[in-house]
Amino acid sequence: MNRRDWLKATGAAAALPLVGRAAPSMLEMQIVRLRLRHTWTTTMSSSEYRDTLHLRFTHDGVTGLGEGAPIVRYGESAESAREAVESVREFLVSADPWEFEKLMAEVFRRVKGQFAAKAAIDIALMDWVGKKLGVPLYRYFGLDPSDAPLTTYSIGIDTPEITRQKVREAESFPILKIKVGLNTDETTLAAVRSVTAKRLRVDANEGWKDKEEAVRKINWLESQGVELVEQPLPAPMLEETRWVRSRVHIPIIADEACLHPADIPRLVAAYDGVNIKLDKCGGILEALRMIQMARALGLKTMLGCMIASSISVTAAAHLSPLVDFADLDGNLLIANDPYRGVQVKNGRLLLPDRPGLGLTVG
Ligand code: MG
Repeated sequence: MNRRDWLKATGAAAALPLVGRAAPSMLEMQIVRLRLRHTWTTTMSSSEYRDTLHLRFTHDGVTGLGEGAPIVRYGESAESAREAVESVREFLVSADPWEFEKLMAEVFRRVKGQFAAKAAIDIALMDWVGKKLGVPLYRYFGLDPSDAPLTTYSIGIDTPEITRQKVREAESFPILKIKVGLNTDETTLAAVRSVTAKRLRVDANEGWKDKEEAVRKINWLESQGVELVEQPLPAPMLEETRWVRSRVHIPIIADEACLHPADIPRLVAAYDGVNIKLDKCGGILEALRMIQMARALGLKTMLGCMIASSISVTAAAHLSPLVDFADLDGNLLIANDPYRGVQVKNGRLLLPDRPGLGLTVG
């Protein structure tokens, strides 16, 4: 007897849940095109939009939302992320989401690379768990939302005129993160400083190619009141970065050099801190492990994000009370965010207090 016949025979309403093991889960996927407010340029690329993978995981009457923003540098695309999730669909819909740790370990075992896809799955599961328990994720992790650090607002590389315009638009943010690393660094900083005296952090995205240039640039940035620098040299140049670190006075944060938990121990000698992103490591649970590990090793911690909707950025924001620095502005850089989650007021991250991620539509 199939389920429909059984329900008919027992006179049960169609909505009646099956006794014992819950019905299989449902997993829906969609590639969403996010339009950027400004053309976004870093040392790596220039773009008008980003495609991210959105997931809806439904189980036992509750739907968790997830998102992964693929990173081109690691050979990922929205399509490769979709294929990666598709490859574990059967497993995901038949597994018990309450065993989320075990489930994610199995996803990591089955899927090689494709960390944005893993992040999308992890975020959807954790949103589901929080909603089922009726608690916001920060509370699930035992955190105080008022401990969240101020977030920076990122200014991509552009002409001096547009840079000045972007800095003016970011008026409500007390700290800016300026993208540098091309041969326009001096012009960019001059444009920024011509309109603001506020706190600045700088991200070179591996743009400086040798240690002498990095020291020269960082010493000059120190004179401009810059308070930290992210990834001055290419990720493999660990020894050169250690050399640079001994000659500068502001913290050096690893971003491209720090993807996964296993990367962290060897960074201790060369960096002062690490920038942890859900899309680099594969989700909230892995990011939490990285934060704890980095702290235990005496490193400063930053939570960053890719350009993404409020799903992904809010997921990271729920862990932000644990870190020293936040750079969670990816959703603010897009013009068509389908969701509303973490809000920012004068740089302060305001975490939603609804269950799970706490997202609402629109
Ligand atoms: Mg960076």
